[in-house]
Amino acid sequence: MKTRYDKHTWPEIKAADKDRVVILPVGATEDHGPHMVLDTDTLIVTRIAEGVAQAIPEDALLMPSIPYGFNEHHKDFPGVIYIQPETLIDFIVDITRSLAHHGFRRILLLNGHGSNHPVLDLAARKTVIETECICVSASYWNLIKADIAEHRKSPMGGIAHGGEMEASMYLHFDPEHIYLDRAERQIVHSEDSRFFSLDLADGGKAMLMRWWSAQTPDGTMGDPTIADAARGKAFYDAAVRETAGLVREIRHLPILPRTDHH
Ligand SMILES: [Zn+2]
Repeated sequence: MKTRYDKHTWPEIKAADKDRVVILPVGATEDHGPHMVLDTDTLIVTRIAEGVAQAIPEDALLMPSIPYGFNEHHKDFPGVIYIQPETLIDFIVDITRSLAHHGFRRILLLNGHGSNHPVLDLAARKTVIETECICVSASYWNLIKADIAEHRKSPMGGIAHGGEMEASMYLHFDPEHIYLDRAERQIVHSEDSRFFSLDLADGGKAMLMRWWSAQTPDGTMGDPTIADAARGKAFYDAAVRETAGLVREIRHLPILPRTDHH
C-alpha cells in the first residue's frame, strides 16, 4: 500500500480512502548548536511521520515535509531561514484547503520545532473553520512526556534544543552529520521559576520567548554531551507509537455537523 501522497497518480488519489489521516510534518531550518546541522527539526519530524506511515499504512497518508518554520528569534545564528507566522499559517491552510478540495477529511499537522506550535494550532483551527475537515495539530514531544521521563539521563533543562533528545535521535538516524565532539552542555532552565520552563518535557505555565542569542551562547539549550543512539531509538520508537495512536484516534473521530443558530 502506498503511503506517500506525492507518489500517487491522480486516479490513485481519486480512488484513495479519504478517511486515511493525511500527515503534514512541519520542521525548521535553523541553528542547533555547533554540533548539529540545520535540518535537525525537519529530519526528526519527517522520520517520525515515515515511521507512523509504515506502521499503519491503511490509516495514514504522508505529505512531503515543510522544511521551514517560525523562528525569526533565531536569526542571530547564521543559516536560519525564518518564515513570518502569517505566511506559514496561510501556506499550511492552502495545503489543507487543497486536501479538503480533493475530498480528504482528516489531517494531522505534526510539528518538529518548538515555536511552530502556536502557528500549527492556528492553522488547524483555521482549517476547521474553512473546510469540512477535522484538523489536529501536535508537537511530537508532547505525546511522549512519560517516555521522556523514563529514558532521559539529563535533569530538567537538558532536553530543549539540540540537547539530549534531539542529539540522541539524530545519532540514531544520521550519525555522519552530528559532531558530538563540538557539543557543549547549556542548561538555562531555572528550577527557581514557578512559571517558566526551558525543557520540552514541561512546557511551563507561562510563555516567554526571548531572542535565542540572549539565552544561549552557541544555540544549544540542553545537554547533548550525554546523547546516545540507543536512547535516541527509544525516544523515536515512543514518538512513532504515540503518533500512530493519535492517527488511529483521529481516523475514528466522528465528523460532527455544525448548527448555525441565526
Ligand atoms: Zn530542534
